[in-house]
Amino acid sequence: ERTPLIAGNWKMNLDHLQAVAFVQKLHWTLKDAKHEDGSVEVAVFPPFTDIRTVQTLLDADKIPFSLGAQDLSTQDSGAYTGEISGAFLSKLDCGYVIIGHSERRQYHGETDEIVAAKVQAALKHGLTPVICVGETLEQREESGPTAVSVAQLEVALASVPADAEIVVAYEPVWAIGTGQVASPEQAQEVCAALREVIASKLGDEAAARTRVLYGGSVKAANIASFMREPDVDGALVGGASLVVDEFAAIVRYQK
Ligand code: 13P
Repeated sequence: ERTPLIAGNWKMNLDHLQAVAFVQKLHWTLKDAKHEDGSVEVAVFPPFTDIRTVQTLLDADKIPFSLGAQDLSTQDSGAYTGEISGAFLSKLDCGYVIIGHSERRQYHGETDEIVAAKVQAALKHGLTPVICVGETLEQREESGPTAVSVAQLEVALASVPADAEIVVAYEPVWAIGTGQVASPEQAQEVCAALREVIASKLGDEAAARTRVLYGGSVKAANIASFMREPDVDGALVGGASLVVDEFAAIVRYQK
């Protein structure tokens, strides 16, 4: 069975000092929550400048959260001013890295090919890529609910080996930060189509084991409805991951 993953993408919020206070408070609020026995995995994705600090805190206080970055370079090292290597992230105990978030596709010109190269870079350095896909409203109206996400994932998985650990996140662009949440049925439809892509590219075993998340205006009030869907294995949470009580309530969802 797939362990549900509740992931908080902080985006460009919380500096390293705020991150300490936030993680400590979240840990305290989640005392005795089901992540402690491993039945749900909680992951935080702070800005790069916070990662060392959060790593130290998780380690010192034995806090059972997974840690990830929000992006990485396609390159290992060298003259790439401003870039961050996957090698650096592994050394900071990051287990995950978000790749191809729609904000990076939109504001930083990340193409499907760049996303695919970043997936390779992540795997090379032992990081689990959280591959984000999703359509705009215009694309949904034009080509239907699944076509864009399926096409994006097919390119991202092109050279991925069958035994690679990956996570896929369906984040419809029209639902991100808008409060206009997808319906559980809409999320299920696309997540099921993405699982089929995993099956055709990586095989049935990979499709059965890989977690597919929904993201876009997830809140404590709607998380359970997504988790009841058979192909939704967790959530990638933006805004609500920055509010301790709200994020803790999402982690504590009851189906
Ligand atoms: P919101 O939860 O703020 O809609 O953001 C979703 C998201 O983009 C997570 O990566």
